[in-house]
Amino acid sequence: MAINIKKVDRNVSMTFLERMYIPYMLHGMWVAIRHAAINMLGFFEEILAGKSKRQVMTLFYPEEYPDIPPAYRGKPTLVRRDDGLEACVACGLCEAACPPLCISIIGGERENGERYPVTYTLDGTRCIYCGFCEEVCPKEAIVMSDRFQGLCEYDREKMIYDKESLLVPREKLQKRLDTIRNKYFSEKRYR
Ligand code: SF4
Ligand code: SF4
Repeated sequence: MAINIKKVDRNVSMTFLERMYIPYMLHGMWVAIRHAAINMLGFFEEILAGKSKRQVMTLFYPEEYPDIPPAYRGKPTLVRRDDGLEACVACGLCEAACPPLCISIIGGERENGERYPVTYTLDGTRCIYCGFCEEVCPKEAIVMSDRFQGLCEYDREKMIYDKESLLVPREKLQKRLDTIRNKYFSEKRYR
């Protein structure tokens, strides 16, 4: 998408009306009221006439869910592999990279010698949604999901997420996985 850069000329001398201030303040109010009215009428139009194509920008949230772009950084989420196990190998890189130190991992080894997190705890009260954990992970095992709802609680204890509550099947995170693969890594690294 082409970015239209507009240069701001700071040496413009104001007209008499602009210096009067009030006419332009009223003009600003008129623009705000006009947009509010258009939005209201847009909804009425849809409700009364059953128009499928909405003219307004707002949504009937939470009945309608917004279309979240894949670059959005929501709740950090652990990837569950297709065989049901964690993609995480408990290397500890995310733990070390996390600026507010909100990740703690106890690693272990399966019978086949594969490493895995016995416990993986993420303190949601500290997370700043920076995405560093996702960026450093060599296994694409933690990603920033599109989840933005229900992240705040009255009880802080409920914001300490354990491994089971963080695990999400890989197919549900595929859009984000494709995005980070393009963003952080070259195709060569994954060949
Ligand atoms: S998003 Fe940032 S703050 Fe949150 S767990 Fe990952 S590294 Fe830590
Ligand atoms: S960086 Fe990835 S593989 Fe390593 S401990 Fe964190 S989530 Fe697991």
